Amino acid sequence: MELNQALESYQDDWEPHLVPSPSSVEQCMRRSWFIGTGHARTERVPGSSILAMEQGKAEESIVETILERAGFKVLQSQVEIDHTKIGCRGGTADMMLYRESSGNPCVGEIKRLRMFGFLDVVKLGVKKAHPEYYTQLQLYMKALDVPNSILIVLSADYSALKYYWNRIRNYPENMIPPPVWTEEIAASIIHQEAAVYRAQKIEDLISTVGDAAMVPREFDPWEEKFPCSHCGFQSACKDAG
Ligand code: SF4
Repeated sequence: MELNQALESYQDDWEPHLVPSPSSVEQCMRRSWFIGTGHARTERVPGSSILAMEQGKAEESIVETILERAGFKVLQSQVEIDHTKIGCRGGTADMMLYRESSGNPCVGEIKRLRMFGFLDVVKLGVKKAHPEYYTQLQLYMKALDVPNSILIVLSADYSALKYYWNRIRNYPENMIPPPVWTEEIAASIIHQEAAVYRAQKIEDLISTVGDAAMVPREFDPWEEKFPCSHCGFQSACKDAG
């Protein structure tokens, strides 16, 4: 079997995701409905995306070591949350951290982002650049009852980032963003309540609606661009209209 075919077939072994989960609440509701109701994918996830996801998991232990050297204590890894408190069916936070200077535990979450995704976090902050991560952390904080969280962003392709910064934007060498970027995010009660409401709405759609056409879609699948171009249900979504 060709290696690329083997890589793509790897996704066939994946367990179906439990939705809604903190990481999926900001995603397209119709996509969550397809997953939550057990529909078979109509498109394959590209092999490159599978590799990127697995590389992210492999880097978690390195990040924990770096955090401990930076003065954090890793209290727990892979923290199961009480998902019933936030209207979800599942969810696992990457880690629970503690830092003497703050005196409170905080949720830690690692993301591995390609060049523009990374630069957007640096320039705009997580809430604007990646609202799905912001919501995910708000839901973890609510479920775990902690007031703070920290998002740790790793550059997935640092050489491309460096090239872009120096050659295309012509910025000086010392302005290159570091390969690891962190942002602290405080709990927002209003955002948490809105996210729980959205999770409950997704759960209702999964439990009560039997036809994809009745489920709101939040993008145009005929535009053939992200996120629909990475959605495993694009054909089924188009058929439903
Ligand atoms: S194709 Fe696009 S609009 Fe349709 S379910 Fe997937 S993400 Fe949502």
